Amino acid sequence: MATITCKRCEGKGRLAHFGHVNNGVCLSCRGSGKVLKTKRVTTLETCYTVVAFNGTRVHCGTDKAKAEALHVEWIAMNCHGHIESREVKKTTHVPV
Ligand SMILES: [Zn+2]
Repeated sequence: MATITCKRCEGKGRLAHFGHVNNGVCLSCRGSGKVLKTKRVTTLETCYTVVAFNGTRVHCGTDKAKAEALHVEWIAMNCHGHIESREVKKTTHVPV
């Protein structure tokens, strides 16, 4: 993994104008002056919501198994619904 000079403190490890916070130690690099080089990666995640016929909505996030289990549970209770899915864009920073 590559490191690059911290942009926030320009490699000094301290921020003069933040002297009142944590002794001025740069929070971005924790005083080392270097940060891991990262790249921004955008991924699409599918999020699931179980919707009952009466309008109850349960958001299950990306947990498809949970959504399906809940759906089956509702059917067993004679409460019919369906599973909605939608694509959600997620940006993460990964070290390079
Ligand atoms: Zn820094």
